[in-house]
Amino acid sequence: MVDLQGQYAKIKADVDPSLQEVIDSAAFINGPKVHQFQKNLENYLGVKHVIPCANGTDALQIAMMGLGLEPGDEVITADFTFAATVEVIALLQLTPVLVDVDPVTFNIDVDAIEKAITPKTKAIVPVHLFGLAADMDAIMDLAKKHNLYVIEDNAQGIGADYTHRDGTKTKTGAIGHVASTSFFPSKNLGCYGDGGAIFTNDDALAHIIRGIVNHGMYKRYHHDVVGVNSRLDSMQAAVLDAKLPHLDSYNLARRNAARKYTEAFKNHPKIVTPSGRTTCQGICDTCDCHVFHQYTLNLKDVDRDALVAHLQENNIPCGVYYPIPLHLQKAYKDDRYNEDDFTITNQLVQSVISLPMHTELDDEQIKFITSTVLNFINGNS
Ligand SMILES: *Cc1c(COP(=O)(O)O)cnc(C)c1O
Repeated sequence: MVDLQGQYAKIKADVDPSLQEVIDSAAFINGPKVHQFQKNLENYLGVKHVIPCANGTDALQIAMMGLGLEPGDEVITADFTFAATVEVIALLQLTPVLVDVDPVTFNIDVDAIEKAITPKTKAIVPVHLFGLAADMDAIMDLAKKHNLYVIEDNAQGIGADYTHRDGTKTKTGAIGHVASTSFFPSKNLGCYGDGGAIFTNDDALAHIIRGIVNHGMYKRYHHDVVGVNSRLDSMQAAVLDAKLPHLDSYNLARRNAARKYTEAFKNHPKIVTPSGRTTCQGICDTCDCHVFHQYTLNLKDVDRDALVAHLQENNIPCGVYYPIPLHLQKAYKDDRYNEDDFTITNQLVQSVISLPMHTELDDEQIKFITSTVLNFINGNS
């Protein structure tokens, strides 16, 4: 699905000396590389505070701890996402409230959020799924109206632009009260191990969070709140700082690959390609906001599992993200849920398939992948 070796080969001359510098300095934890990357990412995103941490799951948990959410508070998030999002809500003994997604963008359905709001609701967690921004203007309006926090799960969307109703753009992760991201190797900005970060424009919240990531310490050996140990180490920061200047070109390479996939599948009656109708309400019709963490097709009347097997036989990797709705997962089942409220997610888990998507895809690979998919669907194989 990804080609991290091919990507590394092209930046080896940047990455290797940077890693060697960390080893020579022996500043493995909280070294200058971490601070340097933090500043560079703040500038890139246009956000006041980046707080690096150990991974994207921790980032979400720490964001929620920083907001002071308490057991029993309800947190609304999408039924169609990676489990980390709902996992941390449950871990903190908050009450996850899963809602359905939009059939076109696959992102959280704003009407479904509004329907799920109760007096106990404290926060909304939109996920910029597969690299496409959720409908942030509408979500922020709703949050303001009901006095809720918005925590953006930006693990799949780093570098994406969100186009507001007035046509201005903001990077995803710089819109809500706080945001989280992951630097897992296969993410759009990935390190060579685990890593993550929290973003916020709120000075007071940033201060609280900086203590939480470091055992609740604001002054050495004074533990004011219950914290965690969650750090981005200097080696990972060195890799990330070497890769950050390439992020826009990496995302462009993904977009170019996506455009070629979409061209090959255009107007096919059984294949719905990722939406050009983004949350930009038509302001941007080029789909330039999408950073394609995944390129995901929605199949109509195709035996999806047989297609998966066919691709595997042809040595083409593919993925089903995600095969089970979160509200049906054993760990997150709840009697409060009504199946009628999840018609879109229940459908998508049966019909989506993600094709290889990374920065190193070439025309020959794309042609082989698209023709193998089309041959199967058109009954030629
Ligand atoms: C990857 C991912 C996470 C978790 O990130 P880790 O660094 O693996 O902990 C959270 N949310 C979403 C949507 C993700 O894709």
